[in-house]
Amino acid sequence: MPSPLQKVECEFAGSQFTPSGPVEVWCKRDDLLHSQISGNKWRKLIQVLSNFMRNKPKHVISFGGPYSNHLHALGFCCRKLGIPFTAIIRGEYLQQQALNASLQDLSDWGASLVFVNKQTYRKRDDKEYLASLRQRFNADVIIPEGGSQQEALIGMQGMLEEVKTQADGNVFDAIVLPVGSGASMAGIVNNCRLDVANSIIGVAALKGEGYLEGLVQKFLPTSPAHNPPEPTPPTTPIHGNKDTPILPWHINHDFHFGGYAKSSTALSNFVTRFNAAQKKIHEARPTDINKDTPILIEPVYSGKCFYALNALIEQGYFKPHSKILVIHTGGLQGARRS
Ligand SMILES: *Cc1c(COP(=O)(O)O)cnc(C)c1O
Repeated sequence: MPSPLQKVECEFAGSQFTPSGPVEVWCKRDDLLHSQISGNKWRKLIQVLSNFMRNKPKHVISFGGPYSNHLHALGFCCRKLGIPFTAIIRGEYLQQQALNASLQDLSDWGASLVFVNKQTYRKRDDKEYLASLRQRFNADVIIPEGGSQQEALIGMQGMLEEVKTQADGNVFDAIVLPVGSGASMAGIVNNCRLDVANSIIGVAALKGEGYLEGLVQKFLPTSPAHNPPEPTPPTTPIHGNKDTPILPWHINHDFHFGGYAKSSTALSNFVTRFNAAQKKIHEARPTDINKDTPILIEPVYSGKCFYALNALIEQGYFKPHSKILVIHTGGLQGARRS
């Protein structure tokens, strides 16, 4: 089922209008892909899961923080497929505490939870450490943190194919999405061409200028990153394909609010106001109530992304009449933080 592509009807933190004219904001609702599996984690895992169905692993291991959307998604899938799953979780101190709702789900789904300290967690891509884990758990599959491996890009390609069909010939001036490990962004950079959009803007959800660009780059088979200061001017439509150059892309680092899962009053107020406005708009359209759900955001990923978009619109960053596509990557677990 393709996730909906819908216009965002919202004067979110005040206005959706630049001083010089309106900007159209569209949203790809990957938050609606699945009730348990966060949107972009579903996209990133889909190829791996289809491999699992062909060739069932003995035991799967992966990594994440205590509110990891990825571990939650993968734990759910392993449960459904009857595959033993071990989650290596950052934070040894958590062992002494009651499980949070997200970890409780994992545990209920039969996952083994292994809590490790920061130093150990840092070795999550280290070959020797991974070999020792394989042996210790008799595991044959290890999936990196966030599900961010080359296969993840294939799922993002599927998302773009949906957008292309749904947009019905309209080309977006920019695609905006939150960035964590960079794999989702890499999937878009790698597969998006001028028949879908003219530029790609990542919003860093954590502190990592330079580092995050490197992570995206790592997944790209092709040319080096462009870092254009401005979105590209509208071009005559070219029907892009895999052989044409990648689109200009860059990551904005102004809206991480101090780091991963860090917030501020401004951000939490924005999230609250945005969600309230969306609910109100939604309730005012009773005929559509079964067709869509309000766009709800959380402070870890989607909140920062929409906050950034709103700020850029207010700053007049986008040209009048620009069509912007925001990817709502989901993010249920972030909303469960108290
Ligand atoms: C993991 C996650 C991201 C970050 O995706 P990356 O591919 O790691 O950059 C963004 N949004 C949500 C909701 C996520 O769970």
